[in-house]
Amino acid sequence: MPETIVVATGNPHKVSEIEAILAPVMPEVEFKALGELGEFDEPEEDGDTFLANALIKARAAAEATGLRAVADDSGLVVDALDGAPGIHSARWCGHHGDDAANNAKLAREMADVPEPERTARFHSCVVLVDPADGSYLAGEGDCEGAIGYEGVGEHGFGYDPYFLPEATPGLTMAQLTPEQKNAISHRFKALQALAAQL
Ligand code: IMP
Repeated sequence: MPETIVVATGNPHKVSEIEAILAPVMPEVEFKALGELGEFDEPEEDGDTFLANALIKARAAAEATGLRAVADDSGLVVDALDGAPGIHSARWCGHHGDDAANNAKLAREMADVPEPERTARFHSCVVLVDPADGSYLAGEGDCEGAIGYEGVGEHGFGYDPYFLPEATPGLTMAQLTPEQKNAISHRFKALQALAAQL
């Protein structure tokens, strides 16, 4: 029977992205979202780095299921805002996961920042945790770009409409197809860095 690895996320897109990249280097494994294995309390993500928060999620899932667990933590890092929203990306506006309010705040805070100073990156940290002792492997990745003056595009989620990746001049992340985004994304690079260690 293949080993089951639990993916500690409620986002089905992340599960398929993680599976697509890790499955080729972990052929004896099947990936399941935590929600497929039962009902579990979400741990408080109170770490002060992306790595710390990824480990909180993965270790909670490993402990709850007894399985090896994968989790990621990611966010937008804006140079002109001293790295904000960073690890607070999901709840920057004051409540969790309100993309419209988060983007409105980003547009407000960046309104007077001139072109050359609008640089930013998406960052992702992905970890694989062993339930036996909590030990882990970690991969980190960045997607470099800049913040636009207005939101453009319908794809993706989060800050995608305001993020102009360096790799796709003139297009926001939200104008890319999922395949185009996955090929350049911070999560893809973090997963590749993790896969290289397996
Ligand atoms: P989490 O890692 O799922 O907790 O995501 C943190 C937050 O970072 C999300 O709620 C988004 O606001 C932002 N974020 C992370 N990755 C992306 C992305 O690929 N596009 C847009 N926003 C992202």
